[in-house]
Amino acid sequence: MTANKGFDAVVVGAGPAGSSAAFHLAKAGKKVLIIEKDREVGRNVLCAEGISRKFYEMVKPEKGIASEIRKIRIKVEDEIDFQVYSTKPFGYILERKIFDRLLYERAVESGATPIVGARFVDLKSTNDGYRVIALYKGREVEFVTEWVIGADGPASGVGLKAGFQNEFEREVVHYCSQVFLFHPEIQADTIVFFYSHELTPGGYAWVFPKSTGFANVGLGVNSSWEDAENNLNAFLNRYYPEGKILGYLRGVVPSGGIDGQLVKNRILLTGDAAKLADPMSGGGIANAYISGDLAALAILNNDPRLYPRMIKKNLGRDYHISSTIRKIFYSMSHDELIGIFKDLERSLNGANIGEIDAVSALKLVAKVSPKLAVVLANFGGKALYEFIRDVIS
Ligand SMILES: Cc1cc2nc3c(=O)[nH]c(=O)nc-3n(C[C@H](O)[C@H](O)[C@H](O)COP(=O)(O)OP(=O)(O)OC[C@H]3O[C@@H](n4cnc5c(N)ncnc54)[C@H](O)[C@@H]3O)c2cc1C
Repeated sequence: MTANKGFDAVVVGAGPAGSSAAFHLAKAGKKVLIIEKDREVGRNVLCAEGISRKFYEMVKPEKGIASEIRKIRIKVEDEIDFQVYSTKPFGYILERKIFDRLLYERAVESGATPIVGARFVDLKSTNDGYRVIALYKGREVEFVTEWVIGADGPASGVGLKAGFQNEFEREVVHYCSQVFLFHPEIQADTIVFFYSHELTPGGYAWVFPKSTGFANVGLGVNSSWEDAENNLNAFLNRYYPEGKILGYLRGVVPSGGIDGQLVKNRILLTGDAAKLADPMSGGGIANAYISGDLAALAILNNDPRLYPRMIKKNLGRDYHISSTIRKIFYSMSHDELIGIFKDLERSLNGANIGEIDAVSALKLVAKVSPKLAVVLANFGGKALYEFIRDVIS
């Protein structure tokens, strides 16, 4: 085994969380190593690649954008089908292979040391930090460091080896199946969200266009990959029967971690490793990036306890609103759901709406459909009604 000189921090995983953490640490002058198991960053990305305009404006990527989204089409069962638009893009579909590499390049340019093809396998505590062990070119190598950041995705080896206790029942997991589809009706500026009790229980289906005719088309459920795959096939047969599949993937989006363990001594978990994806949409790129930044900030302040506090402060509100929306949405009966969506369809079809996030969506629904108040009262009584009223007022 080869031992290497010491680092201030070793970051495991070069997705959005890891590259963000390495970038922010290196920019502040810390000695950072970022290890990635694949031989190239962005090689095995599992994602529909959608980001909001807010996140785009935060990162300002100079490359890696496939398309700009100005229209959202909503389909619920076979009863609702309407579209809203915005003059400014609602969001963007990335070319993540390029986007992830851009974040990684920014980290390296700022001074982080990269090693690709190095798989984290273990870590050991020392008197003043850790020894991180990776498998590199068939040999075990060791890196000495004061801090470790686990940014190694949903099946985090860092979390496992460090003995993080993230209670499983608190998690919300989306099992996802996705294809890269060609279909002549796919429009480059329009994303489609589809929900049905039968095909997407606990989740939804999406069409995220990369260009005219080509899109990531996927479906997530809360039960199993088998259900996700079978239901995606049924969805494609029903709505895109003459579509051509150019690629496929399956993956998992873990949520629920915001109230779990995020830090242990000087080890911090970020992004999917910390289960920080949005509980309603399953979007995890922005929270991964932000959590990497906050982990770096806690290290720069030499205070690991700051990290969970900053996560709650920065991500907590939207996260809990999404989680509440999720609980209400999936507990609604068919008639309640269709009732609310019929109101939305009637008032919004063809309308120009500015922003879409958890709070603005709630505001919109409350404004357009008084039925929401009844659903809230049925679901969570007065307390929930008042919580939502405070959020949207
Ligand atoms: C089907 C699907 C669709 C999705 N669509 C969207 C979407 O449209 N928008 C959105 O915001 N989010 C989406 N997500 C979620 C999003 O992909 C993740 O939340 C995001 O990638 C998390 O970033 P991360 O940096 O935490 O982890 P990752 O992107 O998973 O990066 C982890 C990195 O760690 C590396 N790694 C893993 N193990 C090791 C090891 N032992 N040693 C060294 N390196 C290791 C991996 O190779 C990888 O590079 C989707 C997820 C799925 C499954």
